[in-house]
Amino acid sequence: MFKKILIANRGEIALRVIRACRELGVATVAVYSEPDQESLHVRFADDDVCIGPGPSRLSYLNIPGIIAAAEITGADAIHPGYGFLAESPEFAEACAESKITFIGPPAEQIRLMGDKAAARKLAKDMGVPVVPGSNGSIENPAEALKTAEEIGFPVIIKAAAGGGGKGMRVADDAESFTHAFQLARNEALAAFGSASVYVEKYLSAPRHIEFQIMGDKHGRVMHVGERDCSVQRRHQKLIEEAPSPGMNKELRARMGDAAVELASSIEYVGAGTIEFLLDEDGRFYFMEMNTRIQVEHTVTEMTTNFDLVKEQIRTVAGEKLSFCLNGGSLRGHAIECRVNAEDPRRDFQPCPGTITAYHPPGGPGVRVDTHIYQGCTIPPYYDSLIAKVIVHGLNREEALARMTQALDSFIVEGVTTTIPFLRAVICHPEFAAGAVDTKFLERHKDLLPAAE
Ligand code: ADP
Repeated sequence: MFKKILIANRGEIALRVIRACRELGVATVAVYSEPDQESLHVRFADDDVCIGPGPSRLSYLNIPGIIAAAEITGADAIHPGYGFLAESPEFAEACAESKITFIGPPAEQIRLMGDKAAARKLAKDMGVPVVPGSNGSIENPAEALKTAEEIGFPVIIKAAAGGGGKGMRVADDAESFTHAFQLARNEALAAFGSASVYVEKYLSAPRHIEFQIMGDKHGRVMHVGERDCSVQRRHQKLIEEAPSPGMNKELRARMGDAAVELASSIEYVGAGTIEFLLDEDGRFYFMEMNTRIQVEHTVTEMTTNFDLVKEQIRTVAGEKLSFCLNGGSLRGHAIECRVNAEDPRRDFQPCPGTITAYHPPGGPGVRVDTHIYQGCTIPPYYDSLIAKVIVHGLNREEALARMTQALDSFIVEGVTTTIPFLRAVICHPEFAAGAVDTKFLERHKDLLPAAE
């Protein structure tokens, strides 16, 4: 096992990793930007190093600074959390060069799966269904239009290097296609440093279903059930649950097998996620693989009782997975709401500021993963996620009631949050009935007070 792990992240996930390390008896090092000096992750870690000023590219994305911090403090491994450098092959390489274990897959695997067009090809070659679309990236607009016409409109143009719901454009017809194609290429280049894009059929009302994968260095790869992440705004997840209300045993077995087969083909070690879209007719399509722990890993933890972060650290350190599950024996139902410091009335504009009052919800089956406290300041530089409220119930009905009471009793003052908006979604009859797909919020603009 590692002796000391540096956490190259901030916020709730940095705390989450510190907790896992504590339980494993591993020492921790926090890194932080100047405005994060008073953050809880700095206070809870055994050691801490300031790595630069507020803007991420000068701190949490500063590879030499982070490697130097690990070397100075004698850390033998780095946990990247999610976001920032979690899926940076250059960072994984820099760790390897400095003989520090990167708690994630090797750089080649990050590179392979980070290129969505290449990952799509791998899935296709293995017989895992993919959304009908282009064979790899396309550069030529005329060729792209021809492909789009063959697939049939609407289509979605996606950045091969995309992530976080960015770098995607939908084209409804041939007239709008060429412009959308050009825009997507420009956006991809600006956001990800590569103009490489590919084209896919745009499904009308799919569910986003993903399978949590865990692998070890002893040849075992398994899935630990699915998550339904269909409640999205601008292709970004807001609410996740496990199991999916749209799942049955037979479909879980087929999708789970496909996910395990894909992860096994690259001998995946640690925690990963295989994402699919599931259409109204029960057909599923591989979308992408994320080679890190995800924000929403918590709902899987609640329905399996396994600590996935500990398991991720243990397996990367060479230990065997401590359980064998493959989708069996899931218990109850879990839901997660991402609480952001944003104003839904102003198009979800971020609302940084100081928290003047804070009281988290509690009671049976309620978990809050957060880094905020009364008096803390949310800096403007980073993602606006301030807390994750996770509930677990015997069944979906109980989980829904629990989430409603949890959101009702969650007090956060000083900044505007999405808590009332999340409550409205949870109580919406369509959500309550489990009838959600990725277009749910588009259909219910009344839930987005901003629109009017
Ligand atoms: P990212 O890596 O940026 O998260 P994904 O490829 O995972 O991007 O897609 C994010 C979301 O975009 C999906 O969950 C879904 O809502 C939507 N999406 C992506 N591809 C399609 C498609 N072919 N048809 C319909 N929706 C899609």
